[in-house]
Amino acid sequence: MEDCVFCRIIRRELPADVVYEDEQVLAFKDINPQAPTHVLVVAKKHLASLDDLPAETDEKLAAGIFSGIQKTAARLGVSGGYKVVTNCGEAAGQVVGHLHFHILAGKKFVP
Ligand code: AMP
Ligand code: ZN
Repeated sequence: MEDCVFCRIIRRELPADVVYEDEQVLAFKDINPQAPTHVLVVAKKHLASLDDLPAETDEKLAAGIFSGIQKTAARLGVSGGYKVVTNCGEAAGQVVGHLHFHILAGKKFVP
């Protein structure tokens, strides 16, 4: 059983403002928002980063994560106007070592 902060949120051991959930993902508001809408879509399976996603051997998981991102955006009412970011590794600014995707919306972004 993983002890990381996102696994603990998934197990409901820590609180979070959940906006969407399905078999593969849990989506909740970022505690330190960088945009008017800032939600994290977190894989329920503990994977350290995108590098660890078995995209070729577990297509169901990979597809489920992207479906979860789409559905979270729809739930938030931002479909057609949002940015998705995943930080892969410390050098890219990854702080929480559990695969997650930031959904950001509601402001102008510089690429
Ligand atoms: P990253 O740099 O991609 O690893 O981003 C981690 C994100 O998780 C940051 O935007 C944090 O604000 C966010 N975060 C960390 N702990 C929590 C928490 N307990 N609830 C919600 N968001 C969190
Ligand atoms: Zn975890």
